[in-house]
Amino acid sequence: MDLNCDFDNNYRGLKDGDSPEEACGVFGIRVTPHTRSVSHATYDGLYALQHRGQESAGMAVSDGKSITVYKNMGLVSNVFDDRTLLSLPGYLAVGHTRYSTTGSSTWGNAQPVFRAVGDSGIALGHNGNLTNTLALADELGISFVDLRSDSDLVAHFLATEIARGLGSKPGAVTESVKCRPDALLDALNVVLPRLNGAFSLVIMDHDRLIGVRDPNGFRPLCLGQLEQGYVIASESPALDVVGATFIREIDPGEMVVIDSTGVRSITPFPAETIDPKLCIFEFVYFARPDAQLLGREVYTTRRKMGEYLAKSLPVDADIVMGVPESGVAAAVGYAAMSGIPFGQGLVKNRYIGRTFISPDPASRVDAVRRKLNVLRDNITGQRVIVVDDSIVRGTTTKAMVKLLREAGATEVHLRISSPPYKWSCFYGIDTPSRPDLLAATRSMDEIREFLEVDSIAYLDLEDLKAAIGFKDNGYCAACLTGEYPVEVPIYMHTKPAVGL
Ligand code: AMP
Repeated sequence: MDLNCDFDNNYRGLKDGDSPEEACGVFGIRVTPHTRSVSHATYDGLYALQHRGQESAGMAVSDGKSITVYKNMGLVSNVFDDRTLLSLPGYLAVGHTRYSTTGSSTWGNAQPVFRAVGDSGIALGHNGNLTNTLALADELGISFVDLRSDSDLVAHFLATEIARGLGSKPGAVTESVKCRPDALLDALNVVLPRLNGAFSLVIMDHDRLIGVRDPNGFRPLCLGQLEQGYVIASESPALDVVGATFIREIDPGEMVVIDSTGVRSITPFPAETIDPKLCIFEFVYFARPDAQLLGREVYTTRRKMGEYLAKSLPVDADIVMGVPESGVAAAVGYAAMSGIPFGQGLVKNRYIGRTFISPDPASRVDAVRRKLNVLRDNITGQRVIVVDDSIVRGTTTKAMVKLLREAGATEVHLRISSPPYKWSCFYGIDTPSRPDLLAATRSMDEIREFLEVDSIAYLDLEDLKAAIGFKDNGYCAACLTGEYPVEVPIYMHTKPAVGL
């Protein structure tokens, strides 16, 4: 498929901050050369990371000589079938699932991104969002014509550095030019310290797999071992599914290099920039409940969030229920702590994607009905406490409350297992701009009125930290506090409103 970008779309995108900002899933695998093909395992890994991105999926596979990239719009199971996977033989692969708003939903933004340099090439998958894309592109004299996204900038910068090492420019290096084995590593040592913002990366050349986490470690990344190789993934369930043993999380500011000699750890960033700030929202909502983050199982932290939540604004009710799936763990904790029975009141159609990404408000509301239905026997005539992890725009929550009322709930008390979501994320979770965030400008009473609930309470930040077990400041809670650990340029704050 055509790799050339749509200049207008791309330029506008980068300029107004509506550029691809994704909370994606990344996966990498390398086994002993020519022992087995890894495309099916990459598929399985991406399938386990589907929740991190449902817009597009892709993988790059190397057989040691050449790299083949296959990517397309849609879910992992729509993009790949057995025939495609069989046509991607190799012992080394990186893969990606992408999530973003519809505004930047184009084939060209699908990953991995690829650049050919001499007799080699580089493929890269990125979870996160750079905060210095424009400045860096400008500084490097890289034209927007050559760029699709911040991830593309990283690939372009790397290719430029490799070509510079060969005394040339990327386009001018023909296939017959041999790259030094360490060319990519040398380029990474130059490029990585120049990047600002959030980046958990999987990168490969034709023989080497590399995993990198930015100095703040905004997005997760972990390392696992196979009998004959290694795996890198955004979340540990992607290791489990391919039969890899979890070794450890890759540290903030660490680069892990996997080749025929095994695994090496390098720190390409200045020591003073390393400052762990894992996204607190990974615990609240984004990561799978069975993921291990900072040595904790995410489900357990969510259950504890519910336990703490039961202390704020206690209310008498007949049943505690969670909004499936994201609110269920906290509802279990809430019920245990409050003594009010836990029950199921909402059923989710498990074949439907996340409603949050529906393009306009009307279709988001319809999408809630498509996604959720009620268990009337558990709701009619009952005083209901409904627990969810967060409210962003409030659209789906409002529709869900309406469903409960229509089913005959006599009272609906909403409990949210995180503090009010007031600020946009610029480090890899695509959220609306501030005016569209329900809690950004409204008082608690106004939120309650808007959602038409009898009462509402949120978990406070101290309790959220306690539930996760954060003792110091090693987390990013910018979406809740407005304190951004890495400077965000003004133009990124002014992205166009997506509309409630
Ligand atoms: P809304 O009422 O429209 O704000 O939607 C609230 C729902 O969105 C909650 O159930 C959350 O679990 C979910 N949610 C929170 N953050 C995100 C996100 N970044 N992407 C998709 N869904 C989200």
